[in-house]
Amino acid sequence: MSFRFQIEARDDKARAGRLFTPHGEVQTPVFMPVGTVGTVKGVPQDTLEELGVQILLNNTYHLYLRPGVAMVRQLGGVQRFMSWDHPILTDSGGFQVFSLSDLRKVTEEGVTFRSHLDGSSHFFSPESAIAAQIGLGADIIMAFDECTEHPAEYARTQASMEMTLRWAARSKKYFEEHKHEVPWFNDPALAKRRLERGTRPGTNDQTQTLFGIVQGGMFPDLRRESARRTVELDFLGYAIGGLSVGEPRPMTHEMVDAAIRFLPEDKPRYLMGVGTPEEIVHYVAQGVDMMDCVLPTRAARHGLLFTSEGRVTIKNARYAGDESPLDPNCGCKVCVRYSRAYLRHLYASNELLAQALNTVHNLAYYLDTMRRVRQAIQLGEFANFLSGFRAPR
Ligand SMILES: [Zn+2]
Repeated sequence: MSFRFQIEARDDKARAGRLFTPHGEVQTPVFMPVGTVGTVKGVPQDTLEELGVQILLNNTYHLYLRPGVAMVRQLGGVQRFMSWDHPILTDSGGFQVFSLSDLRKVTEEGVTFRSHLDGSSHFFSPESAIAAQIGLGADIIMAFDECTEHPAEYARTQASMEMTLRWAARSKKYFEEHKHEVPWFNDPALAKRRLERGTRPGTNDQTQTLFGIVQGGMFPDLRRESARRTVELDFLGYAIGGLSVGEPRPMTHEMVDAAIRFLPEDKPRYLMGVGTPEEIVHYVAQGVDMMDCVLPTRAARHGLLFTSEGRVTIKNARYAGDESPLDPNCGCKVCVRYSRAYLRHLYASNELLAQALNTVHNLAYYLDTMRRVRQAIQLGEFANFLSGFRAPR
């Protein structure tokens, strides 16, 4: 297989492990920064490598609209296009179609939507969304799902969940028939680089891996049903989607718990679109292996910084003369070099560097948190870590 998941340590429900993909290894639990249009806004790829980022998320919807799937395919796939020789995951485009675009029309066949860029009309079906993701060439791709709106009635949520299951089966069928069309299919150079990095070479075809997505809204029985029947379709990994959409946090935890009990122990579990630093630590405690969120990068661009001593709103006048580092417990290159006073000045002056530096620190904080989480699981001290984790306020 060109994809493997290996669990190396368990502590209660939390797991520490490793994903093996065609473009490299990922240590789990992992937080995946969001590189919407093929860039983590304001941060060059070499800086992401210095931060220890092992896998990025790209949005299919955005890359499909610009520069287009055919162009990315022609340029060798998204890793080569953005000069990121490491794993990438793409979402299915479903979430953006449902949240960003205008005038969408959903039928059993798929979704008609208008581009938020120029108003042009487009159509995504399970088949065309998978075709787009094969053309982009991420290592891990997602089944096309309907992200049920919140709040939604039981009958509406159930019907939506049933359609997502039918779309998952269609996604998988199309993927199995076309997975050899990925731009880097069985590329010998890729296999050689993997070998040089010490990853066991695959014995089968070197291609992408498709994950299924559990839906079911805010109803535990629908979450269970969706998990059970998505697993029957037999994917190599499972995502939990449609959460962190405005519901109270205890409900998110309840839905994650309802679904995760029915997901196989030996497959990676990916909770989509979450959360704050304190939240991601708790999802790991529930047995989640992978997460992504725009929060650290988006908040950074708005001057909201996560630190070991709490949240810092850098525009506040109180930092104007503050020579101390942003976070005295952070070893990132921003905290080592610059003062709060300087970061505050950059932000107040609307300088480009403010966005870049703020993003680097917030990502460093998230990644460092996940490193400590992994270490605590490996030492069997995760319960201690959880109770001592100082959540930023
Ligand atoms: Zn820092």
